[in-house]
Amino acid sequence: MLKGKCAVITGSTRGIGKAIAIKYASLGCNIVINYRSEKDEVNAYKLSEEIGKLGVDTLIVKANVADFEEAKNIVEKTKEKFGKVDILVNNAGITKDNLILRMNESDFDSVINVNLKGSFNCLKAVTPIMLKQKHGKIINMASVVGVIGNPGQVNYCASKAGVIGMTKSLAKELGGKNINVNAIAPGFIDTDMTKVLSEDQKKNILSQVPLKRLGLVSDVANVAAFLASEDSDYITGQVIHVDGGMAM
Ligand code: NAP
Repeated sequence: MLKGKCAVITGSTRGIGKAIAIKYASLGCNIVINYRSEKDEVNAYKLSEEIGKLGVDTLIVKANVADFEEAKNIVEKTKEKFGKVDILVNNAGITKDNLILRMNESDFDSVINVNLKGSFNCLKAVTPIMLKQKHGKIINMASVVGVIGNPGQVNYCASKAGVIGMTKSLAKELGGKNINVNAIAPGFIDTDMTKVLSEDQKKNILSQVPLKRLGLVSDVANVAAFLASEDSDYITGQVIHVDGGMAM
């Protein structure tokens, strides 16, 4: 389904990004793996080896997406190696939760800088390439809480609501150029990001999920594969919820 394509997936050494990388690779897509911290280097090489066994090519680029030049470098390196960028998945994201009274300025800034500005940085770098090649699929990782809000996550919800606004605006800008821009809004997915939740918090979340379970990374990866494929060619500017029915 994605044979011979090339996808940049930010934050792809763990969790949802890793699952998307493996899913895309299983469909024949070459993968650009990105991570930020030293501790993830081993994961990046392990993932590259795993993906290589599926018969596709990989490139590893260590970069902090919040840094404009580093984000640009991911895309430049990709263009150098593969000559194109068919798919961008803006997946890298962080949380720094606290109630507003305890949330400090740097917790707000860092979440906005990675989740929102980081997505902008990659979009800025990839758009000229996609315009020139006259095709592209962009998938931005939002969140259900960017739509419905969540106490203790003023910074995170603002960043994800921003991602949704950016997705819709860019879909309108690029719609006439054969470039699809969509967002996925996962609910609570079982990854390192949600491992920090207490049993009480998990119980409370599950009470709001009609499908009565946390999501799996594969639930999100399957939708990301659909949005990267030609099966979704007439879909743009949408926010696809993968949240077990939390928001409806
Ligand atoms: P995760 O397990 O914590 O993994 C996050 C990935 O992003 C890691 O590979 C991390 O690498 C990378 N990353 C973080 N900051 C980065 C930066 N500045 N530059 C480059 N890479 C960076 O997270 P996840 O749960 O898979 O979440 C993935 C995405 O889905 C995020 O955007 C998140 O907000 C969104 N989401 C998750 C859930 C959920 O329930 N898990 C729900 C809704 C939305 P390093 O450790 O090397 O920095």
